[in-house]
Amino acid sequence: MTDHAHKPTVSQAEAEAAVRTLIQWAGDNPDREGLVETPKRVAKSYRELFQGYEVEPREYLEKTFQEVGGYDELVVLKNIRFVSFCEHHMLPVVGVAHVGYLPTDRVVGISKLARVVRGFARRLQIQEKMTSDIAHAIQDVLRPLGVGVVIEAEHSCMTMRGVDVPGASLSTSCLLGSVREDPRTREEFLRLVRG
Ligand SMILES: [Zn+2]
Repeated sequence: MTDHAHKPTVSQAEAEAAVRTLIQWAGDNPDREGLVETPKRVAKSYRELFQGYEVEPREYLEKTFQEVGGYDELVVLKNIRFVSFCEHHMLPVVGVAHVGYLPTDRVVGISKLARVVRGFARRLQIQEKMTSDIAHAIQDVLRPLGVGVVIEAEHSCMTMRGVDVPGASLSTSCLLGSVREDPRTREEFLRLVRG
């Protein structure tokens, strides 16, 4: 069981009441016409935006890997767009992930890599942890020779409030196994990701 695992004990009505409170906190009147349905919509959209709590991303890899005969070069999927939410402010983190691995005997369909990214993104996150979560899930399940994950993202909590620096983006990376240790593999991964 992971630290976020929990049974949902909050009802839809309680979630909507909390949104009403935040509307009032923001300074508006939750009973005015344009806002009457808003708590319901927000509660519903939270179910979608935080779908990551309902999935175990490792399962996408466990169920679907295929044996690979002889392919021994890097597999890299670039520019996987994602939306996440920072766990400090619950504001959007929008960016792209680049994911690569050097297979031994198992590969997965590329859509599964995108699903793993989405599964970890749709939670309250910090980018460093998300980067590491994705890399270790691939490492643990596919047991490749190496894994590389690079994420570049814009944090709304930084670009629209606080220090207020539009356009600033945060880059994080997690390199494991040969992608970390073998200079040739590492260089090739980073070249593919940047190219
Ligand atoms: Zn934040």
